[in-house]
Amino acid sequence: MNGEAVRPVEERMPDQPQLSVVIPVYNEEASLPDLFARLFPALDALGVRYEVVFVNDGSRDRSAALLREQWERRPDATRVVLFNANYGQHPAIVAGFEHCRGERVVTMDADLQNPPEEIGKLLAAMDAGHDYVGGVRRHREDSWFRRLASKAMNRLRERITRIHMTDQGCMLRAYSREIVAAVAASREVSTFIPALAYTFASNPTEIDVAHAERTAGKSHYPLYKLIRLNFDLVTGFSLVPLQLFSMFGMFVSAAALATYVGVIGYRLFAFDWAGVRWQEATSVFWDRDILAFFLIGMLLFGLGLIGEYVGRIYQQVRARPRYMIRAVLERPADEPAER
Ligand code: UDP
Ligand code: MG
Repeated sequence: MNGEAVRPVEERMPDQPQLSVVIPVYNEEASLPDLFARLFPALDALGVRYEVVFVNDGSRDRSAALLREQWERRPDATRVVLFNANYGQHPAIVAGFEHCRGERVVTMDADLQNPPEEIGKLLAAMDAGHDYVGGVRRHREDSWFRRLASKAMNRLRERITRIHMTDQGCMLRAYSREIVAAVAASREVSTFIPALAYTFASNPTEIDVAHAERTAGKSHYPLYKLIRLNFDLVTGFSLVPLQLFSMFGMFVSAAALATYVGVIGYRLFAFDWAGVRWQEATSVFWDRDILAFFLIGMLLFGLGLIGEYVGRIYQQVRARPRYMIRAVLERPADEPAER
């Protein structure tokens, strides 16, 4: 038995925060002041030792400067990881996971769509013994199009992967240290953190959380990026699309064979069935060209689908670093906690 695992964490790592909050930041200068003003008081009110890890994902506005100012104000509770370019929200969260030390880790967005006051609810669910707590936005404040598309994608993912989440897009989630370590150790490219983390969870649960409209700045997910994200989610966690394609191929071959046999039979014996000259009847809606276009379309789709998987393999085998860090703003480890 491993003695480390049973000793309380305070004994193992006296300086370890009980809670880390990981926040990816990309061009959020308009939201950051409000975020600081609400996040830190909300965390102070929880009465736990915490740290906030901001990851600046190559912002081109003043976000990095604002993060540095906040770090100077609260160096005891703030760390800032600065990327040298924009690598995306999920790589930024991975970097946050690699740099946080909390026994529990909460992720949230920087735009205040996830109210920081809800973090206590996530922690309460963890107190009840869960190692993964997903947020569900009951009243989602986004456009009807986003809500509809995301509902459809949630349903698709639910059917073709083993990941059960009501609201995959909600980033307000809490993870145990073990799960965070497993995610940080995964060398997966183009991944989706809530789903990847779910695969490591042993006792996941979900709770309802509030959601607010984006009041400042604008969403970084235009339609194209949303489609890409969902392709990554599907191909990164399921082989079902490929398997469906083999099934479809088998079905088309069997149907073609049956039609062939039927046509030969008709030509040899010119039989009618139930008083209908069926070949003439079907010729009304039978058009070989249209069918051929349909099948070519399916073929191209299948080819693209294989391409998605091959592309993932290609990215994976190149094994390039997923991001480059320009600097990390943190207090040197040997400095005392109080200053
Ligand atoms: N984000 C990021 N890198 C990106 C895009 C977004 O770090 O390339 C961050 C962004 O700053 C925010 C979070 O990811 O904290 C969610 O982004 P956004 O609010 O634009 O997404 P939405 O709420 O529209 O899904
Ligand atoms: Mg948002």
